Amino acid sequence: MPEAIRSAIRVIPDFPKEGIQFYDLSTLLLQPDLVKQTTELLALYVAEWNADYIAAIDARGFWFGAPVAQNLGLPWVPVRKPGKLPGSVRSQEYELEYGTDTLCIHDDVIPAGARVAIIDDLLATGGTAMATANLIEQLGATVVGFACVVDLANLDFLPNRKNLTQYPIASVLEAEG
Ligand code: AMP
Repeated sequence: MPEAIRSAIRVIPDFPKEGIQFYDLSTLLLQPDLVKQTTELLALYVAEWNADYIAAIDARGFWFGAPVAQNLGLPWVPVRKPGKLPGSVRSQEYELEYGTDTLCIHDDVIPAGARVAIIDDLLATGGTAMATANLIEQLGATVVGFACVVDLANLDFLPNRKNLTQYPIASVLEAEG
């Protein structure tokens, strides 16, 4: 079954820049049965972690975070780029290959002590996931795991990925980067 999911994901070379193999999950969205299967697999992983909340990462993490939360009957929280959340936020800057980026979370939506599972579409260096984990921990909550559709597992020599290994990681597919 993951093979059908794998075939539904289009890999576009040299996007957004030369040398990057971009995993385009928008083609998976065209097949509702496979979205359902992907959601159910992610929900199985997250259920093992006894999460109270799901945090999904802007923007492609929403594609899967929302249905997984619905599947498990859990509340979910969007982690967004700066300037998008209207309330009081916590922010976390993180390093990209070139430059930096920032993610934000409303500071009053997850209670201290809550168990939070993070969902995104794809894990590469782990920088985005780590920044999200830092935001959740700033709120006094606990990160119980990180679930994604595609894990570019062959990139695990990268330093950010090492930091992320303190959390359980679950993916539907592993792929070459
Ligand atoms: P990273 O912070 O390096 O783990 O990158 C993960 C984030 O960047 C995710 O939100 C992905 O949507 C996006 N991303 C990074 N590399 C790729 C790729 N090769 N194909 C698709 N999305 C990617």
